[in-house]
Amino acid sequence: MSDWWRAGSSAVREHLEALLLPRVCLACDGVLRPGCERMVCDVCWNRVPELPRPRCERCGHPAGSGESCRWCPLLPDYVRAVRSWCWVPGGVAERLVHALKYEGWHELAPELAERMARLDWPADVRDERSALVPVPLAAERMRTRGFNQSAKLADALAPHLGVPVWHDVIERPRATPSQTRLTPEQRLHNVADAFRVVEGAPSILRGAHVILVDDVVTTAATLNECAATLWDAGARIISYVTFGRARAAGDAPLSRG
Ligand SMILES: [Zn+2]
Ligand SMILES: [Zn+2]
Repeated sequence: MSDWWRAGSSAVREHLEALLLPRVCLACDGVLRPGCERMVCDVCWNRVPELPRPRCERCGHPAGSGESCRWCPLLPDYVRAVRSWCWVPGGVAERLVHALKYEGWHELAPELAERMARLDWPADVRDERSALVPVPLAAERMRTRGFNQSAKLADALAPHLGVPVWHDVIERPRATPSQTRLTPEQRLHNVADAFRVVEGAPSILRGAHVILVDDVVTTAATLNECAATLWDAGARIISYVTFGRARAAGDAPLSRG
């Protein structure tokens, strides 16, 4: 391989690759239609259905008829509403979250955010929301990953909702181990005091209704810890939006069709 190629700007290289290699769907490796700007084909997106209805008006969790919500008790009182697009883990959705988070495909964020933008919110949330706040990554993880997937989702979602993204109101001073293999109790302990408000941010937060953005919600431990930090700093109402949501005990199991 010649030096000019190795040293060439990545923009030139990407351009040449685009000309020489057909683009394939990130989920199924099927060749995308020529000129298709997306990273995921329609067939795969059709395999990522919205969470089933009916759903709880507050927490957005699929609800059984006539029973009180089993997911709402996870949330502090000042959390107004939670919305998620689809179940994760499982199938294409899990693949997409993995690609975004661990394989560096941050260009996927707009496609995920497009689904998140379709979620319906209670009227008061639509009227009052001041900004999106991405769940921050610790500096150490930011260095290894190169970007914060929640920030990419928030940036892509904000124009759909017509609100700004506040990137610099909350930070994560210490890295916490991945939550993936932890029990709900361990998750709570793992993220306790993980966040703090950035100096000077409370003035913007005072009285605000902010929507926290994350890729996936499981037990809500991370989002709740973030919300508590924002609440302590003066935010008065907090909502959450995520692309994926983990099933809780009692939810219908994943159908692999
Ligand atoms: Zn596909
Ligand atoms: Zn609920």
